[in-house]
Amino acid sequence: MELIGVSGLPEIGPGDDLADLIDERTDLERIDAAERSLPDPSDRSDGFGDVLCVASTVVSKAEDRFADLEDFPAGPRAREIADRLAGITGEEKDARFAQAVLEEGTELLMEAPFLLTETRFGHVGVNAGIDRSNTGGADLLLLPKRPSESAARLHEALSVPVVITDTCGRPFRHGQCGVAIGWAGLPASRDWRGERDRDGRELGVSVQNVIDELAAAANLVAGEGSGGTPAVVVRDFEFGEMGGSDAQFRSVESDFVRQALRGWSHE
Ligand code: GDP
Ligand code: MN
Ligand code: MN
Repeated sequence: MELIGVSGLPEIGPGDDLADLIDERTDLERIDAAERSLPDPSDRSDGFGDVLCVASTVVSKAEDRFADLEDFPAGPRAREIADRLAGITGEEKDARFAQAVLEEGTELLMEAPFLLTETRFGHVGVNAGIDRSNTGGADLLLLPKRPSESAARLHEALSVPVVITDTCGRPFRHGQCGVAIGWAGLPASRDWRGERDRDGRELGVSVQNVIDELAAAANLVAGEGSGGTPAVVVRDFEFGEMGGSDAQFRSVESDFVRQALRGWSHE
């Protein structure tokens, strides 16, 4: 397996055809139409192939998800949140940003000491995934509206499985990491249950989140700064033979940490 950054992509703007721009700069190993419609790419002829990982930033730019703070006049709730955050952090907080997060998110899981929200498509992230860096000059860059639909369009145009990534913090661990927020043409996970370990014991719970692992690998190449490498080809990825599933975001009922958060408050 090899990770290949797609070099030479320009600054992306509204309406740009990302599929074309990527296609011109790389030599993707396409799958044929019959294989593309297979529910599980592990059914493909040789079980190996390219996966294209694309940073959500450039998908957002192409889909014109730029926004300015003045688009979000702050209501009383946003002002209350911003005042509280300012009190905790000792830094001035723009209530319009809190308003943007409230409008972009569905459930607000934490409002202090930072804003943690669920997005409309099920992903939970700080500030509803709104970026304030690499925004192409706008104040804000919102996440794509439906990243898996964006991935499906790229998959359709390029005939390779596609993962849309974002950099996210994770509970329990320092630092941030690439995660998958949209995908098409491959299952989200690989199911090891029923396989055997080295001692012959049957695996009972191992479901490997393959798209997050691909996203993290691609993010190593992309970096976070001015590198200009938002698209990464994972070459000769082995899809494997185990069935998978498309479950990625936990429901509240199956997410006990999230349930515990509902009863918690930062003082
Ligand atoms: P995020 O993780 O999706 O929020 O995006 P980042 O801001 O971390 O950027 C990921 C990668 O994409 C970095 O290598 C950036 O330099 C690069 N990048 C961001 N916007 C553009 C763009 O418009 N054009 C190009 N060529 N690279 C970009
Ligand atoms: Mn981001
Ligand atoms: Mn990033």
